[in-house]
Amino acid sequence: MSKNIYFGLIMILTFACSPKVVTVKSPPEVKIVEKEVIKYVERRVPLSARDQKYLDDALRTDSQYNNRNWEYARQAKDLANIIARPPAIVHLDNVNFGQFEGTYNFNLRRPNMVIIHHTAQNSCEQTIRTFQLTRTQVSAHYVICRNGTIFQMLNDHLRAWHAGNGSWGNITEINSSSIGIELDNNGTEPFQEAQIQSLIKLLGHLKKSYNIPAKNFIGHSDIAPTRKNDPSTKFPWKRLAEAGFGIWYVDNPYLVVPPDFNELQALRIIGYNIDDPGAAIIAFRRHFCASESKSNTLTPTEKRILFQVYTKFM
Ligand SMILES: [Zn+2]
Repeated sequence: MSKNIYFGLIMILTFACSPKVVTVKSPPEVKIVEKEVIKYVERRVPLSARDQKYLDDALRTDSQYNNRNWEYARQAKDLANIIARPPAIVHLDNVNFGQFEGTYNFNLRRPNMVIIHHTAQNSCEQTIRTFQLTRTQVSAHYVICRNGTIFQMLNDHLRAWHAGNGSWGNITEINSSSIGIELDNNGTEPFQEAQIQSLIKLLGHLKKSYNIPAKNFIGHSDIAPTRKNDPSTKFPWKRLAEAGFGIWYVDNPYLVVPPDFNELQALRIIGYNIDDPGAAIIAFRRHFCASESKSNTLTPTEKRILFQVYTKFM
């Protein structure tokens, strides 16, 4: 095969198949790899059986592809094979579809939200193992250990299974539009400084790479208030917002909330699902007031904070 095609194939497989410690300091490399993938897709060169075997053998003998990574590569290639084929023609009553006419102008979809979790487990190893057992049916793009080490487990362009049922504003398919980040934390302990520093660097990389709006950095409990409580009240949302990830407020204790202020409307405008108003209030309080109170009504201070956060969305 020609040198160019070989290079393209190696790049696409490296890009698709390689979970690794993220090199946050060198985002240009990511861009170069992505360019190569797009170039490869644009060339539309089908893999010959000989080339496929060559690459399979190369991957098998490469020590960085242990058995679990090989399984990741196999699944990623299965997906690549599906999307490389013309889609099945849609059948709708009384509608005539012509044959598939592939365009040459496309690339991969990009994530537009980041959902932050705590693992509620005791170690990074335990979490990584959980995400590599098929029966658990859960995964995340990144796991950040207490010591700040970041493990990537999935290409950013693929859909991880971290959010479950939930919504934020009008977005109801959170897994399809988001990156999931799990912080190794048992749910009751403080988050480690090294871990938060790595998180902030990773968020900077993701925000820049995919142009993610500051408002779209949120927690699992925000999008699934009836089911989830992570990350816990110990998570430093204010510090994150000051670094450009998420929304915060400057509390003015003298501010008088207008008498006609509608709390539920405000929660809905921020993004919360208010089908269960009590759950939405508790999730808001957990995120913005660092309180685990289970009261379904806001205190005057909490109501003032809600009003101040809400005005950021107007
Ligand atoms: Zn979670």
